[in-house]
Amino acid sequence: MAERYGPPVCLRMIRLIIAGIIVYVIYRFSRFMFTPAGKISKNHSGEQSEIEEEELVKDPYCGTYVPINSAHKATMNGNTLYFCSRECLEKYMKENG
Ligand SMILES: [Zn+2]
Repeated sequence: MAERYGPPVCLRMIRLIIAGIIVYVIYRFSRFMFTPAGKISKNHSGEQSEIEEEELVKDPYCGTYVPINSAHKATMNGNTLYFCSRECLEKYMKENG
């Protein structure tokens, strides 16, 4: 009879240990999820800001600030100029070219 009670107790112990490990892993994982998030944003703030935040460039014709990705680019005397619209680009080129 004693042997009958033996294995279930062992299984319970194993289950408890496994449950403990799972809880520990979840705890560690949740810490891993939350803690480095702050660190990453701190460490890579410079790199991330370049990707996330669109750089604003000034339209030299009308003075509007335009996100670099949607700006109209033109190269003049080796300098890259950014315009809010093609109209501004062409007008600027006419006046300065
Ligand atoms: Zn413009």
